[in-house]
Amino acid sequence: MMQRHQTPKAVYVHIPFCTNKCHYCDFNSYVLKGQPVMDYLDALEREMERTVRAVPPGEIETIFVGGGTPTVLLPDQMESFLRRVKCYFPQWSGDLEFSMEANPGTTDLEKLQAMKEGGVNRISFGVQSFDNKLLEEIGRIHNTDDVYRSLENAAKIGFTNMSIDLMFGLPKQTAEVMRSTLKEALAFDLKHYSIYSLKVEENTLFHALYERGQLPLPEEEEEQKMFQLIMETLREAGYEQYEISNFAKPGYESRHNSMYWRNQSYYGIGAGAHGYTYGRRHVNIKGVQPYIDATKERLPQLECIEVSEEEAMEDFMMVGLRLLRGVKSSDFAAQFGRLPEVVFGSVLDRLQEKRLLEATENGYRLSEQGIWLGNEVFGEFLGAVEQK
Ligand code: SF4
Repeated sequence: MMQRHQTPKAVYVHIPFCTNKCHYCDFNSYVLKGQPVMDYLDALEREMERTVRAVPPGEIETIFVGGGTPTVLLPDQMESFLRRVKCYFPQWSGDLEFSMEANPGTTDLEKLQAMKEGGVNRISFGVQSFDNKLLEEIGRIHNTDDVYRSLENAAKIGFTNMSIDLMFGLPKQTAEVMRSTLKEALAFDLKHYSIYSLKVEENTLFHALYERGQLPLPEEEEEQKMFQLIMETLREAGYEQYEISNFAKPGYESRHNSMYWRNQSYYGIGAGAHGYTYGRRHVNIKGVQPYIDATKERLPQLECIEVSEEEAMEDFMMVGLRLLRGVKSSDFAAQFGRLPEVVFGSVLDRLQEKRLLEATENGYRLSEQGIWLGNEVFGEFLGAVEQK
C-alpha cells in the first residue's frame, strides 16, 4: 500500500489559547481571558470521537500537542484533556513520543505532574531568546528567570527529553546577542534545539510596523552571520543539524515532525488544525466558537481536498529536502512508482547547476548554500511535475 494511504501513526492536537498575543505571531491563537476553555475541550472530544469513527486508528507512534500555548490549561483541565486523548487514541507504541509545547511561566509543578501522568514525555519550550529586552520587544510575557524556573520544575518532575525554541533575525538583534543566547541555551545541555528565523507575517503587529518602516530588522548579512554562528555553535556542542532549523543529540530528532518531513499521514485535531489521512488533506475551522459549534453536528472541517499524485510528489520533495540528509530516490519510487529524476529531471539539474542541491549516494540533499536558500529550492518544485 502506498505510504500516504496508510493509517496515520501520528496525532496533532491544537490548543489555541495564549496568555497574550506575541507581536510576530500569526498562529491560530487567541488571548485566553474569557475563552470557553471547557467547551473547547468538550469540542475536541467530539472531534476525536467523529474522527476515529471515520478513520479508526492503529498503533500511535507520536502525539504532538501544539498551539497556542497548551500549558495555559489548568492542572485539572490538563488532566481531563490528556485522559480524553488517551481514550480515543488508546493504542500507544512502546516508545511513543508524546510532545507538548509549553511556555515558560505557565508550567508549575502540579501541571507538569498532570502532563507526566497523562503520558507526555517530551516538552518543547518556547523560549525565543535569553535577552530580556528582546523578549519584551517581541511581546513575550516571560523573562529568563521564568525559563530557568520552568526547566528546573520539569526536571524535578522527571522530564528528560526537552527542547527549546529560539529565534534569530529579530529587531535590533545582532550576532553578538545571539552568541550569548546560544551560550545560555546550551548550558542546559538539552536533547534538542529548534532555531527559527523571524518571518514578518501579515496580520501581525510586526507587519504593521514593518509597513510603516518602524521595524528595525537586522541586515540580511547580519542575519546570515547569525545563522552561520548557530550552525557552527550547535555542531561544536555535539548536536546534529538534521533539519534546516532543528538540532538534536543522536537519537533525539523530533519523530513527530519527521512524520511531516517524510510526507506521512497524520490526524489533525482542533481549531485550525491540518490533517492528512488517506491521501486527503483537511484544514479545520479556525475560530474557537465556530469550531465548537461545528463539532456538535459534524467534523469541523473548513476544507478537505484529495491530494493529486502530482501534488503529493511535489510535497514529498519540498518537505523531504528540509531534512539535511535529503531524500532517497528509492523512497520516492516506493510511494509513486517512478524515480524523482523521471518526474523532476530538469528541476534537479537546474538546482544542481546553481549549487543549491547536491546528489548523494542514493538521492539528493541541500548543499551548504541551499540550506540558507531553502525556500528558493522548494519553490522550484511547485507545479513542476513533468508529464511523461
Ligand atoms: S506564545 Fe506562541 S502561539 Fe502564543 S501568541 Fe506567542 S507566538 Fe503565538
